[in-house]
Amino acid sequence: MINVTGSLLERWKDVPESDWEDWHWQIGNRVMTYDGLKDILQLTPSEVIGVKRSKGRLLMAIPPYWLSLIDPMRQTCPIRRQAIPTAEEFEVSLNDMEDPCGEDKDSPVPGLVHRYPDRVLLLATEKCAMYCRHCTRRRLVGSETHLTSRQNFEQAYDYIRSNRRVRDVLISGGDPLMLPDETIEDILKNLRAIPNVEFIRLGTRMPVTVPMRVTENLISIFKRYSPIWVSLHFNHPKEITKRCKKACDMLADSGIPLGSQTVLLRGINDRPSTMRRLMHELLKIRVRPYYIYQCDPAKGISHFRTAVSVGINIMEKLRGHTSGYSVPTYVVDAPGGGGKIPVAPNYVISQAKGMFTLRNYAGNIFTYYEPAEEGQMQRVVPNQNKQTKKEVKTAEAKTAA
Ligand SMILES: *Cc1c(COP(=O)(O)O)cnc(C)c1O
Ligand code: SF4
Repeated sequence: MINVTGSLLERWKDVPESDWEDWHWQIGNRVMTYDGLKDILQLTPSEVIGVKRSKGRLLMAIPPYWLSLIDPMRQTCPIRRQAIPTAEEFEVSLNDMEDPCGEDKDSPVPGLVHRYPDRVLLLATEKCAMYCRHCTRRRLVGSETHLTSRQNFEQAYDYIRSNRRVRDVLISGGDPLMLPDETIEDILKNLRAIPNVEFIRLGTRMPVTVPMRVTENLISIFKRYSPIWVSLHFNHPKEITKRCKKACDMLADSGIPLGSQTVLLRGINDRPSTMRRLMHELLKIRVRPYYIYQCDPAKGISHFRTAVSVGINIMEKLRGHTSGYSVPTYVVDAPGGGGKIPVAPNYVISQAKGMFTLRNYAGNIFTYYEPAEEGQMQRVVPNQNKQTKKEVKTAEAKTAA
């Protein structure tokens, strides 16, 4: 029997542990309808509208494990808000876009995005274990019309093989861990066989939403095509449960480097203290914070967006105040397809010839003197006559000889 801790978990207390621990059971028993959800949670009027209307749009799909983490007494529970649609998803504002990062126009073959010179993004499936309400790829992900996996990636492999500059492939989606183990192995095998591919990473949220997906067999596949780097997606410290830690431990113990990407979400992780706690908890489970994303202007998620200054302030409160390992890079994915642009607090107060005036995390001011250009060394040496560039060169040659 499963260990009953949360009040919602009570619902599944008669489920045999072997079922609960089987990721296929978790996927097969996702709550996907209004009728299914209203028996579990008391929904707000906005959620009722959101859930009833989500059919045909970004689906609602909530695995029992994720549901069990919801605090039924709090409408603002971060686990709940990421999983349950609300009426706000149907409010589209002026600047919202279908494809905010302009991925479709940088797609040379179906399922492949090639934006940066040396790396590509392979969209391996449109399915996810849980559909995050803030998903930026909601145009592709979890729509009822698209629910097929791309099993045939030959065109993508050919493209990568014929573009020798591509040395890095990011397997993403959707969630590639929704694919059967054999398909994952097939993708890794094909990519490893391409001589120019030297770095393979896989982006997944399943170790967070359905940690049971991390099985011994999956790990043995990753090890067979090692090194595979895994990029996770965490947004709130509540997501780091004992069960999730176990999945991350299995990966880290097998030598698989783990990183995390976080989306800055209004009311979920937009307080510096929440974000700092999340970053600290990630380090404790050997996950290195990689990016914090400014929430993209995708259609129907503007209620999750914050001002950019909120992100800058979070970075200001992290850098210097806590372990450098827990400081990710905050980026804005440029609307229209410019890629990720780092945005950071400004630490440069002024810049003059040969000197930089900087401030540190505590607001103290310091000056850094740059090395003098060739032929200008004498400036800092007192009582020495000016030398021309040529004379310095001659002097250097003599010393060398
Ligand atoms: C994020 C992203 C990558 C990977 O970028 P890194 O900064 O190397 O993590 C590659 N291609 C696309 C289209 C992306 O959005
Ligand atoms: S796991 Fe990623 S791709 Fe899937 S719904 Fe969430 S944010 Fe979107």
